[in-house]
Amino acid sequence: MTIKTPICAFDAKTGILCPKCEARLKGGHISELDVEASIKLTKLAEKVPELSRVSLVRAQSVDGVYVLTFAAGNLNILRSNPSIHKSIEDAMGGKTMLIEAESTDRKMLEDLFYPIRILTVNVVWLPDGSKLTKVIIPGRKTERFPLDVELIKKVVKAVRNIDLLVEFERASYAKAL
Ligand SMILES: [Zn+2]
Repeated sequence: MTIKTPICAFDAKTGILCPKCEARLKGGHISELDVEASIKLTKLAEKVPELSRVSLVRAQSVDGVYVLTFAAGNLNILRSNPSIHKSIEDAMGGKTMLIEAESTDRKMLEDLFYPIRILTVNVVWLPDGSKLTKVIIPGRKTERFPLDVELIKKVVKAVRNIDLLVEFERASYAKAL
């Protein structure tokens, strides 16, 4: 048992593509990054058994950050041990965000903000007919807020073409005074 990836398990183990996967790469059905991530995560699955229960759907790179899409329901498995995400980042060689395929926009946003909870997600229509997706985070923003909101905005734009607006439930500390 090993992780399922966009390429054959054998190819992912050996690092050499069979003619069928090579043709899918040449035809643009899979990317170089899909192949690279498949090989790296297959190697990691030897040390991290939870990976054998998940399926990598695709790998993307947004603004120097890796975005890995796994099959629906897989993130619960990957979050069962907090060290797994770190191991994936070490294997990939950089910051990595994890999302699920075929998820709703709200679920994808919850996955990108994880472990920060989202209060509400609303769609806001602008006068010119374009729309923004507004996320409200509970509480107020503090200096310890662990996420790079600008980066999340770039990722949702690249992955789902969503224009994101992020607000906090309460005004900042200085304003509240
Ligand atoms: Zn193959």
